[in-house]
Amino acid sequence: MPDLQHWLQSCELCPNFCRVNRLEGKKGRCRLGSGLVVSSANLHYGEEPVLVGRGGSGTIFFTCCNLKCVFCQNYDISQLDYGRPVDRDELVRIMINLQDRGAENINLVTPTHQGAQIFEAVKQARRQGLNLPIVYNCGGYENPKFLEELEGLVQIFMPDFKYGNNDAGEKYSGVKEYHTYCGKALLEMHRQVGDLQTDARGVATQGLLVRHLVLPNRIADSQRVIDFLVSAISPNTYLNIMDQYHPAFHAADYDGLRRRVFQQEVEEVVQYARARGMNRFIR
Ligand code: SF4
Repeated sequence: MPDLQHWLQSCELCPNFCRVNRLEGKKGRCRLGSGLVVSSANLHYGEEPVLVGRGGSGTIFFTCCNLKCVFCQNYDISQLDYGRPVDRDELVRIMINLQDRGAENINLVTPTHQGAQIFEAVKQARRQGLNLPIVYNCGGYENPKFLEELEGLVQIFMPDFKYGNNDAGEKYSGVKEYHTYCGKALLEMHRQVGDLQTDARGVATQGLLVRHLVLPNRIADSQRVIDFLVSAISPNTYLNIMDQYHPAFHAADYDGLRRRVFQQEVEEVVQYARARGMNRFIR
């Protein structure tokens, strides 16, 4: 399996396609060079129950992000760059330690922009005895070509699918063609791992789990997200329709994002998903 570090030479790890040489310390839109920067690592019990099981999800938060969501609820990590550099050996130790503490999986949060470095560590951790499923927990703005290189390294893909159109992605997350690239990424993820599978305890072992955060005033264009999942991926897609939006970070500067989401708005999305034949979702 080829070393993934070459992706950093003219970086196209994500569809921002900055093409900067991160190996020489140049930085693109995600503001990271060639190192690894971790914000925190711990057993997490607040994730979806299929990831938590009894032992908790072994969650590692990575610093910075390839998106610039104006409403980001983890903006201290993603935009204010809270975290500390670690080397590959330390990241391997973090993963093995989470396994030793009983984690059900290794949950990589926002891995996209550090993907080359992270998955070299994953390969090393496998050689050193890591045997848990790897969860790729991302914002959905992925380069499908890079995802192709992860085949066999990721057991569970858990992307956000934030918007049903590209204009919203540009306005609220600061990137071009979010909807288009997220769709392509989901096709590749589903090709690799299929629909979500669980073991006898109901804990996820492999597959695709999609998160969609309902935004106020139909800003997320949720129905088009569901249309895509049903028609292009699978009506059996495991979907978490999330209702916890609150106006964080710069959201108050945007008309339509200044309030929490109404329960009625969330129900509308759930009813639409049901009407389109989806029946595997978390609410
Ligand atoms: S990972 Fe960072 S440097 Fe690479 S293309 Fe994306 S935003 Fe640009």
